[in-house]
Amino acid sequence: MSHLLKPNVGAALPTAVRAAGSFVWDSEGRRYLDGSSGAVVASLGHGHPELLGALREQAERITYTVRALFTNEPAERLADRLVDLSPGDLDAVFLAGSGSEAVETALKLALQHWSEQGRPSKRWFVSRQGSYHGTTLGALSLSGHPVRRQHFEPLLHAFPAVPQPSPYRCGASAGCPPCDLACADAFDAAIRAAGADRVAAVVVEPVVGATGGAVVPAAGYYQRLREICDHHDVLLIADEVLSGAGRCGRFLAIEHWDTVPDLVAMGKGLGAGHVALAAVLARRPVVEAIAAGSGTLTTGHTYSANPLAAAVGLAALDVMAREGLVERAAGRGSALGAELRDLLETHPILGDVRGLGMLWGLELVGDRAARRPFARDQAVTERFLAVCQASGLLLYPASDGFNDAVLVAPPLNAAEEELSLLLALVDRSLTTLENELGLA
Ligand code: PLP
Repeated sequence: MSHLLKPNVGAALPTAVRAAGSFVWDSEGRRYLDGSSGAVVASLGHGHPELLGALREQAERITYTVRALFTNEPAERLADRLVDLSPGDLDAVFLAGSGSEAVETALKLALQHWSEQGRPSKRWFVSRQGSYHGTTLGALSLSGHPVRRQHFEPLLHAFPAVPQPSPYRCGASAGCPPCDLACADAFDAAIRAAGADRVAAVVVEPVVGATGGAVVPAAGYYQRLREICDHHDVLLIADEVLSGAGRCGRFLAIEHWDTVPDLVAMGKGLGAGHVALAAVLARRPVVEAIAAGSGTLTTGHTYSANPLAAAVGLAALDVMAREGLVERAAGRGSALGAELRDLLETHPILGDVRGLGMLWGLELVGDRAARRPFARDQAVTERFLAVCQASGLLLYPASDGFNDAVLVAPPLNAAEEELSLLLALVDRSLTTLENELGLA
């Protein structure tokens, strides 16, 4: 009997024993194409020689320091690099160990920013329904995923949440399309209802990832949201844990909308599946308020600014720059999207295919014309992932708790033949599922 708790307690899972590039092998010798870079993490594939080299080299120098006593060179260099890569005046960096830590840190920086200026009443956050910001209680309070919240509701904050900016399932306006950006204006209404003097920040995933499946808002959405935040003196926090680090074809996905947030949370692709690494980027005025006040960041974790993680993160950014992988995510990614959209012609189960860069969502529906989702107890997302896995393909779930969706997000450096195999396996798995459900 295994003593290790799995997501489904007691589930018998295959044992992964090796991974290289875009493939993972289990202990039975079965090979899987990693069509989602794990949990949208291994952006450079698995076991990248340069990242392993950086890991080894740094491990031989120093693997750990206490952040309050020492700084370290890899962490300093990584902070410099992140600032260089980021838009606008995002120029202060906090390094963390997971996306949830990064989101919590961004929330705390926002709260401290206001409290240090004598405005402690600004302590609410406004987020979106159908979002996922992490598993810790603060981040979960912002997350609109009913299943992930269910056992913890009594301890979660009742923050306001507005509809997702979903062109396929617009919940904000009868006029979408054409989009009137009512979903952005919903933030204005929510801030007014709560009182701007009580709202610290708005928190959004620029491209919704794990709860919706690569939902891309309409043109103008983030520009409008930036105006609304500025108007109400509310900070804008972009959770780029999944969409950032080049995944969507820009370093930050929100750059597609020419928008600079006040705080950014990053994770996943930053450590590229080789180390646990996450970051918060902050605009100068956010930290200036703290520096001019108490001068102390009242947050931090044992592994914050860890030199080993930072050295590997730097190596990952080196590889991405040298191989032009952000540009590849944009170019090859949009071609991948077109190839996936072609599957709409032959697969009635596909309701929508959307995405940006190398992040694509497939929404599965029972009736395409009516956009009718399957009943929840049919567990279609889980069944599709199982069919994929049985055929040697790994994808990632992206159901928002009401609709069925999966993410296709291969490594940014996946070879052409791997991308062709990915498409063939998705195609075949859709057919298998349609046959199982009697839809073919
Ligand atoms: N934010 C977003 C947008 C995510 O997709 C996730 C994880 O899926 C998180 C935060 C939490 O990151 P972690 O699982 O590393 O704590």
